Amino acid sequence: MHRTLADDLSRLPALLQSARDLAARELAGLSERPVVHLDEAPDHEALPAGGVGAEGALARFGERWAPGFSGSAGPRYLGFVTGGATPASVAGDWLTSAYDQNGSGAVGSWATALERETVGWLRELFGLGEAHSGAFVTGATASNTVGLALAREWLGERLGVSVSRDGTAALGPVHVLSGSPHSSIGKALSVLGIGRDRLRPVPVLPGNREAVDVAALDTALSALEGPAIVVANAGTVNTVDFDDLRAVAALRERHDFWLHVDAAFGGFAALSPSYAGLVDGLDAADSVCVDLHKWLNVPYDAAVQFTRRRDLQVAVFHNASPYLGLPVGEPDFVHLTPENSRRLRALPAWFSLMAYGRDGHREIVERNVALARELGERIAATDGLRLLAPVRLNVVCFTLADDPTQERVDALARAVAAGGEAFLTSTVYDGTPGLRAAFSNWRTSADDVDRISGAVARAL
Ligand SMILES: *Cc1c(COP(=O)(O)O)cnc(C)c1O
Repeated sequence: MHRTLADDLSRLPALLQSARDLAARELAGLSERPVVHLDEAPDHEALPAGGVGAEGALARFGERWAPGFSGSAGPRYLGFVTGGATPASVAGDWLTSAYDQNGSGAVGSWATALERETVGWLRELFGLGEAHSGAFVTGATASNTVGLALAREWLGERLGVSVSRDGTAALGPVHVLSGSPHSSIGKALSVLGIGRDRLRPVPVLPGNREAVDVAALDTALSALEGPAIVVANAGTVNTVDFDDLRAVAALRERHDFWLHVDAAFGGFAALSPSYAGLVDGLDAADSVCVDLHKWLNVPYDAAVQFTRRRDLQVAVFHNASPYLGLPVGEPDFVHLTPENSRRLRALPAWFSLMAYGRDGHREIVERNVALARELGERIAATDGLRLLAPVRLNVVCFTLADDPTQERVDALARAVAAGGEAFLTSTVYDGTPGLRAAFSNWRTSADDVDRISGAVARAL
């Protein structure tokens, strides 16, 4: 064994203690560290020949890189939709590495059973019935890709061809309809060989809405010849609008389509009796995407995908030797996901759900929504700013009251970020450049809303 490696092995507990000390210090200071770092990263170093050992690596990391890492896991990073990591999920994540199980269907380990238990808990949390099965994937983009891969296979079934065997060409042109799809849907369609341009936008409801106009969707489906794919959106990134999932699902009485629901963060509305109505009908979907590194507040990377058609999932993703045939019974995750070997990313989620339960996670969701509404009220009352849409759930979408050009809005975003107190990302909503403040971190408090609105006022 290489000498430094042998050294590290002999001092493993002390090494882990050092890493733990750094992590504890960083997490203790998280609320006060600059939310983002906009200065240049250091130049790259040469590959070490001998190596400095783990303690040496920790020291170098602490000097060269750690100071430039963002406070994105902290309470005032409101860009994109960014979750933090609950205490229990961090512990679970560390142990995921310590145990280093292969989540493909580890032979001789209970890891797979733990993932199944966790998927079952999540299914319950999001109000899905037993007909849905699922698996962990890396993020909502991967979850959407898996869901749309199943949709693609289903189209083949409808047309009497097997896409997994014969390829996408066997389908001819595919029709994908959606009101306000996330950009990852286009990416998924590109990866799947369906094509980004097959995504047909359907009009949304009038009056500051991003939810699909179900009557317009009905008309668009009527104009199609064969089966189609509909992507419904449960929580749009700009203004957290929700398609009427029940009404969309009901269109299947007249039209033949696969219903995929992107509920990346909107799915968490199901945790609160006050907001659960927004995802009414989610269970009727053929496939569902929910991100976990956003509102569940587990570390990157984790999401879950659900479907009612596990048979199609096995047809697409199975990795069995031809002479062994398809897996029977409950398939291992290797037969359900794009990966073969995979991290046991269920463990951090298992830890957080075990530690805080349904109530603990519901409290995070309800507090985030209350804080978003509070910030929304302050923005609406601020001279020089106006809301672009009502605060429906956890995102405040606003802009400059006068002359909101892209340039001026970007300058405002930069000025907020430069203060180091808060971070917001810009967007374009209904043709108007604006900013979004997305609340999805378990740490965020009323005090943080004071600091965020103060930062915005100063930048203004
Ligand atoms: C964040 C998000 C995605 C993509 O999620 P990743 O985890 O970044 O891959 C997809 N859809 C919606 C609605 C999202 O908010």
